[in-house]
Amino acid sequence: GKYNTDPKFNDTMEYIRQYSGKPGAKPRATFLTLLRNEDADDMVRTIMNFQRKFNDKFEYPWIFLNDEEFDTSVKEVLQKTAPSIKMIFGTIPKEHWSYPHWIDQDKAAQGRQKLTEMDVIYGDSESYRHMCRYQSGFFWRHELLDDYDWYWRVEPETNLHCEVSYDVFQWMQDNDKMYGFTLSIHEFEATVSSLWTSVKKFFRANPSYKNEYNLKKFISNDGGVTYNLCHFWSNFEVANLHLWRSPAYRHFFDFLDREGGFFYERWGDAPIHSIAASMFLPKEKIHHFKDIGYHHPPYNSCPIEDKIYKSNKCDCDQDKDFTFHDYACGQEFYAAQGIEKPINWRRNVG
Ligand code: GDP
Ligand code: MN
Repeated sequence: GKYNTDPKFNDTMEYIRQYSGKPGAKPRATFLTLLRNEDADDMVRTIMNFQRKFNDKFEYPWIFLNDEEFDTSVKEVLQKTAPSIKMIFGTIPKEHWSYPHWIDQDKAAQGRQKLTEMDVIYGDSESYRHMCRYQSGFFWRHELLDDYDWYWRVEPETNLHCEVSYDVFQWMQDNDKMYGFTLSIHEFEATVSSLWTSVKKFFRANPSYKNEYNLKKFISNDGGVTYNLCHFWSNFEVANLHLWRSPAYRHFFDFLDREGGFFYERWGDAPIHSIAASMFLPKEKIHHFKDIGYHHPPYNSCPIEDKIYKSNKCDCDQDKDFTFHDYACGQEFYAAQGIEKPINWRRNVG
C-alpha cells in the first residue's frame, strides 16, 4: 500500500502528522457510504438532504462502496441527485468481506444462534457481521480512499436537521481534531461480552500505544476494569483516515480479528473505533459536534441550546434530542473531557 506501516510509530498522532494536511490547506476529504443496491432510494433522499444542508456550498466528492457490483441504474440515480458532485463507485474486494481462515464456522453459527435466542438485533445476520468487520478493519484500506485524509461517513436513511454553514473538514484540519461525532450510546452487552477482555490483553502486551492524555474515562467507569459499553455512534463520523491506517490501530484490529468476536459474538465497528480513538489519541482530538443536528433511526441529535438551534436554522424537535439521555453517553463524554455541558442538559435525560 501507499502508507507507511512501520511499527516504529507508537505515537498515533506522530504517525498521522506525516500525512495529514496542514492547517489552512485544502482538506483532502470525501463523503463515504457503504451501500446496497436496494437502498438506493433511501440514499437519494439522504444525498438531497446533505447537499441542501451542507455540500451545495462545499462540493466534496462522494465515494460509495458495496460488497456487490453497483447496478448501473443505481449509479445513475445517485449521480443525478447531485450532478455537480464527483461520485465514485467501488466494489469491495472479496478478501475484505469473507471469513478469515482461522474462524470456526460452527462456533460462529452457535454464536449467531445464541444472540438470536436473546433477541439481539442482527443476532442471526452474517452479512451484518461482515459489515461491522469491514467498517472496523478495511474501508480505510480501499484504494479509492488512498488520496484522502478525511471522510464523513453517511448512511442511507439519515439526515441533517440544521444548516452546516462552515466547512466541517476544514474545521477538523485547522483545529487538529481527529475524530468527530454527534451521538453516542451504550452497546448491547451480549454483542461484546468478551471484547473488553481482549482489549485488556492487547494493552497489556502493547502498553506504548496508549496515549498519556487519553479518553479512557469515556469507556470505563472503574479505571479500566470493565467496559461501560459507551461508544460513539459510528453511523456518523467525521474523522481522519490515518488514525485507522496507523500501526497502533492496524495492530489492534488484527489482534481483535484473531480473537474472533466479529463472528462468535457480534462486535460492532462503533465500540472498536471508540475504544481505539479513546485510547490512542489525546482526548482533545475527539470532538462532539453539538451544532450538527442529525437523525439516524431511531435517534436524533437536536441542539438543545436555543442560540445554536436558531442560528443554524434547525428543523428538529428539541424534546427528542438524545445527546444526554441516560441511554446515550453524552454525560460520560462531557465528564471524561472535563468540559461543561449545556446549562439545560437535563432536558431529556430519561
Ligand atoms: P445499523 O445502522 O447498525 O442498523 O446498520 P445498517 O443496516 O444501517 O448498516 C450500516 C451501514 O452499512 C449502512 O451504510 C448500510 O447501507 C451498510 N450495509 C449494511 N449491510 C450491508 C451489506 O450487506 N452490504 C452493503 N453493501 N452495505 C451494507
Ligand atoms: Mn444504519
